[in-house]
Amino acid sequence: MQKTYDKNNIFYKIINGDIPCNKVLETEHCIAFEDINPRAKIHVLLIPKKPYVNLNDFILDADKNEKLDLFDGIAKVVEVKNLRAAGYRLLTNVGENGHQEVQHLHFHILGGQPLGSFIKKLELD
Ligand code: AMP
Repeated sequence: MQKTYDKNNIFYKIINGDIPCNKVLETEHCIAFEDINPRAKIHVLLIPKKPYVNLNDFILDADKNEKLDLFDGIAKVVEVKNLRAAGYRLLTNVGENGHQEVQHLHFHILGGQPLGSFIKKLELD
C-alpha cells in the first residue's frame, strides 16, 4: 500500500525554496545537495522534485522521463564529485525497517574515502 505524502517534510521545503540547501546540481526533475550531517567525506542527497514518499511510490507513479532523469542525475553527481574511478555507495532507505527519516524519496551518494562493508550484521531472531 502506498503511503500518503505529507508536505510537512524538510525536503519539500528545500524543493520549494522555503529553506536553503547547499546545492550540487539540478536536473529537470531532480535536485542534488549536500547532506547536512555527512556520514562520509562526500555525502550528497539526490531527490526528485515531485512528491514521492519513497522508492515504491516512484517506481509505481513516476513516468519514464522522470526515471531516466533520476539516473542521469546520479551520473552527474558521480561526475561532478569525481567518484567514478574510486567508487561510491548509492542507497535509499525505505519505510520503518529501512530507517527512513525524511518522508520524501532521496538517494544517498557516499564516497571520497573507503566506506567499509555494506552494513553491520544484524541479530536474526
Ligand atoms: P534517511 O535516514 O535516509 O531518511 O536520511 C535523511 C538524511 O537527510 C540524513 O542523512 C540527514 O542528515 C539529511 N538531512 C536532514 N535534513 C537535512 C537538510 N536540511 N539538508 C540536508 N540534509 C538533510
